[in-house]
Amino acid sequence: MQFANKDELKEAIREYAIVQGRNVKLVRNDNKRIQAKCAGHTKCPFILFASKIDKDEQTFTIKTLSLEHECTRVDKLKYTNSMWLSKRFADKIRKNPEWDVGAFQSET
Ligand SMILES: [Zn+2]
Repeated sequence: MQFANKDELKEAIREYAIVQGRNVKLVRNDNKRIQAKCAGHTKCPFILFASKIDKDEQTFTIKTLSLEHECTRVDKLKYTNSMWLSKRFADKIRKNPEWDVGAFQSET
């Protein structure tokens, strides 16, 4: 899975976290690498690691991805409101059909 630039990747991480109902924190966030972990539970297996394909390009590709959570859903997410979510997320699904929607829809 690839993203045109770092902002697009971060947006996708945020949206995924909202849909899953979990707070995700970026433990690494520099010009070459992005690493996200679950903020809810230290032992939670959720991890996302992405890096730049080439230093001269903006494209990020996901190297490691484990979307499983062992923590419980949180009611209050720090991100944003549900109106913003439904609007932005529907848009993202259309653009990224390979983003695994089924997996988390069954969970909600
Ligand atoms: Zn978790």
